[in-house]
This record gives sequence, structure tokens and C-alpha cells, in this order.
Amino acid sequence: MAATLQGATPGPQGAPAPVVVAIDGPSGTGKSSTSKAVAATLGLSYLDTGAQYRAITWWMLTHGVDVNDARAVAGAASRPDVVSGTDPAAPTITVDGVDAAGPIRSQEVTAAVSAVSAVPEVRERITALQRAIAAGAARGIVVEGRDIGTTVLPAADLKIFLTASPEARAARRSGELNGRGGGQATDLGATREALLRRDAADSTRTTSPLAKAADALEVDTTELTLEQVVECVVTLVQERQRPA
Ligand code: C5P
Repeated sequence: MAATLQGATPGPQGAPAPVVVAIDGPSGTGKSSTSKAVAATLGLSYLDTGAQYRAITWWMLTHGVDVNDARAVAGAASRPDVVSGTDPAAPTITVDGVDAAGPIRSQEVTAAVSAVSAVPEVRERITALQRAIAAGAARGIVVEGRDIGTTVLPAADLKIFLTASPEARAARRSGELNGRGGGQATDLGATREALLRRDAADSTRTTSPLAKAADALEVDTTELTLEQVVECVVTLVQERQRPA
């Protein structure tokens, strides 16, 4: 059962004022697990922005768009209808009304997503969607991604930038992939290389690259358990909510 914020600044009807939390960082730092748990603990909505970029990439791949042709991707960027469900206990993602939760995690999508998400027309569209979802979250929202604190929601109440060593990140990601089954057993070295390649592409693109906002708090999760990271972020949110 979700706890409510203690000591929060009251909203118009005595409800806590909505709080916006941005959680950014590279792959495998625990962004998704942390963001979902923080949102569930505090009774907030949750948005996985990586899933949105993956969903648009899946649509491009299944509609014959060459994902390495930036002009073709830009031309098609307005076509897919991407809808995110923001319950942290059961987040959903559909494209043109079709459940995309499974296919967006395929290796094919993972390999193509950095190229698609680097296209400015794609980012413009998805960023507008993200801002609308955040503005509509009555109690507040935890939004995870790469450019949330820098570009999408620069006025967020709290910005966290998660990091971890490449070894820890590869071990977590490979554990997730193997745990998901489907005959995709991955070797750690290959996972590490793929992850570093994707981070390099995400960090060096021209439009809103993966970056730590100047006012973000950096948390290195290498030596921390998920519970420790969640507790740390929940405390930080509650501190921001307390009247001065
Ligand atoms: O977080 P996840 O690994 O699902 O993200 C998939 C990809 O989506 C990233 O590698 C990146 O290319 C893109 N992405 C992005 N901006 C975000 C979130 C994800 O460009 N805010």
C-alpha cells in the first residue's frame, strides 16, 4: 500500500502539492527499479521515457522505416501514437493501441533505439508528450530517462543522476536479460560492450544528450542495494516537500 507524503506543503484542498522528480543516468544504474519503487512508496505516478523511445523505434522497425536514415525517421516521427500508463505497480506502453511492452525489450530495438532517439523530430514529439503527462499527474510524478533534468522538466523539484561502474551496470543488465528468458542468454562482456556503445551514442548526440543537470544530486549505486537507493531518494523527496 502506498504511503502518503508526511509534512508536505498542502495543495488547494489540503492535498500535498504535486512533486516532480527527475531521475536520469546511463543504462544499468537502477533507474527503472528505483523510480518505480519511489513512486509507489510516495503514491506518485511513474513515467519510463526510455520505453517511449523504444516504442517509437519498434514502430519504425515494423513499418519498414530505415532507422539509420535520419530523414526517413524524422518524416515518420509524427505517425505512431505512443501511450504510456503511469501506475508504478503496472506501467504500460502501447503503440497505435497495441501492447508494446514485450517487443520494445528485444535486442533489435535495443540496438536501434539510440539512432532513432537522436533524431530531433522524434525528441520534440516525445518531449511534448512527457511534459503533458507530467503536467497531468495530480499528485506528482517520478520521470526517469536521460534528459529529464536538463531538457524535459528543468524545473523539477528534485533531480537525481544515478551512476555505477561499467562492471556493475553490465552485471545488472545481463541478470535482467537472462532472467527474462526467451533463449537470449547473454555473456557479460558482450552486454558491457553494447551498454557502453549505447551510452556513448546517447552522451554525444547533438540534441539533449544524456547529461547530469547542474543542480542534480549524483548517487553512485555501485555499492548500494536497491533498497538503500530507494530510501535515499524517498528521504530527499520528503525533504523537498517539507515547508521551510
Ligand atoms: O532507459 P532505456 O534503456 O530503456 O532507454 C532506451 C534508449 O532510449 C536510450 O538508450 C536512449 O537512446 C533513449 N532515451 C533517450 N532519452 C530519454 C530516455 C531514453 O534518448 N529520456
